[in-house]
Amino acid sequence: MHKPRIRSVFDRLPSYAPAHPVVSASGESHPLAANESPHGPIADVVATIAEHAGSANRYPDFNGTELVSQLARHCGVAEDRVALGAGSVALIQMLMQAVAEAGAEVMCGWRSFELYPLLAGLAGLRCVQVPLAAETLDLTAMVNRVDDRTRLILVCNPNNPTGTFIDHEQLREFVDSVPENCLLAVDEAYFDYVRRPGARSAMDLVPDRPNVVVLRTFSKAYGLAGLRVGYLVGAPYVVRQLRKARLPYSLSTIAQKAALAALRNSGEILAQAGETVAERTRVQQKLSSAGWVIPWSEANFVWLPLGPASVAFGARCAELGVAVRVFPGEGVRVTIGSPADNDAFLAVTGRMANHVILGESS
Ligand SMILES: *Cc1c(COP(=O)(O)O)cnc(C)c1O
Repeated sequence: MHKPRIRSVFDRLPSYAPAHPVVSASGESHPLAANESPHGPIADVVATIAEHAGSANRYPDFNGTELVSQLARHCGVAEDRVALGAGSVALIQMLMQAVAEAGAEVMCGWRSFELYPLLAGLAGLRCVQVPLAAETLDLTAMVNRVDDRTRLILVCNPNNPTGTFIDHEQLREFVDSVPENCLLAVDEAYFDYVRRPGARSAMDLVPDRPNVVVLRTFSKAYGLAGLRVGYLVGAPYVVRQLRKARLPYSLSTIAQKAALAALRNSGEILAQAGETVAERTRVQQKLSSAGWVIPWSEANFVWLPLGPASVAFGARCAELGVAVRVFPGEGVRVTIGSPADNDAFLAVTGRMANHVILGESS
């Protein structure tokens, strides 16, 4: 028997393992594995979704005209600098497709967003993964690895899963040392949670640097993970080419209209994200006063670099109804959720800290 012929790279690709809900024996469930917003959509967004349900027999606006226009206003750029995707993951895939030719390589830090190497493999690209230094992207090591095969560099800022943030000056120096013919994508999925004094978006670099693109999403602070809307800001040439790679009609009318409603209400929604930031500070302070040594996170999650103790810690969390993201042998990423969710997580750490820290050093 012969199997249908499928590219051999598929045999080596891991299947993406999405977060599974966990429930404790007492029925508690705290979803802290997927970096979602704990806030459901605000009333205006829900009403907009309901309002457009009746047009589901029609194809959506192919170009997302109104959304592109409002995003351009929101970002203070011209409309020809904005590309849409069904989630920013789709835009990452479009970027990969745009550079995938024989011998081409993609580069990212590691550990970083787990979908980077997966999408690179799917596109037939080799992915060079440059180790982090002190849980932070090592831009010097990355520059040193760039050569003529490097076509796309992904800079996740803040970095998922470590939460660390690269300052603007350092990022600008990095951009200046990357060849202009190599695309550089700054993934700012978590930018709305950044509170570092003086922090600036890489969007400020886009006007002067035609190889830089910035990725944003409605899935995190804007709370629309289930509707799949992401966007990219970059040079008109890059945007024009990327738009060709978007799967036709991949942004539903409901997704487009909900994103527009969220943008109209960005003040209220970003205030909710501010509550998450306040919770992040509370969680980080509690952890550090309990003796945990963790990198300061600028995102809506914290990173516990537990090494070999990660799996056991994740299992203990699951028993108590707290779903977290475990990277075996490396660490555990825990989303900042509602105050009650975060208390449930802190209760686990309160009971585990000494045990885990001892376990790691022995
Ligand atoms: C969550 C996340 C995204 C957003 O994904 P969507 O496809 O927009 O839901 C992008 N990049 C990183 C690093 C993320 O963590």
